[in-house]
Amino acid sequence: MSDQFKVHCDCGAVEATATGNPRVHGFCHCEDCRELLQVPYHSVLAWESDQLAITRGKGESIEFKHPSKNMTRVFCKHCGEVLYNTNAMGWKIVSQLMFRKCNDDQLPAGFESNGHFFYGRRIVNIDDALPKR
Ligand SMILES: [Zn+2]
Ligand SMILES: [Zn+2]
Repeated sequence: MSDQFKVHCDCGAVEATATGNPRVHGFCHCEDCRELLQVPYHSVLAWESDQLAITRGKGESIEFKHPSKNMTRVFCKHCGEVLYNTNAMGWKIVSQLMFRKCNDDQLPAGFESNGHFFYGRRIVNIDDALPKR
């Protein structure tokens, strides 16, 4: 059986469960993440659509579809915290910060960021040793 990982929002009303390893673990510098989440870049763990599901409080969550981009963000209607967002490929993207907060403040082995993605579209420069593509 594959490993399962849970995240929940600040107030605990909504919980999502991911199964198996994320497809991508790194930092995303694309403008889509910036616009959807209002962040300079995003720390991502990205699972395929069928690898992650809301497992508690689905009725307490709201799915907002961006008016022009093929993206959504799914958040708790009580505390407002985003559980995950989806990108144009339908991947479900969990913030590494939220994942850490809900999993003993650490990432499992193999989940550490291994690169910066869409680095050419960045608005901030990163001075670290990770590959940039
Ligand atoms: Zn909540
Ligand atoms: Zn992005």
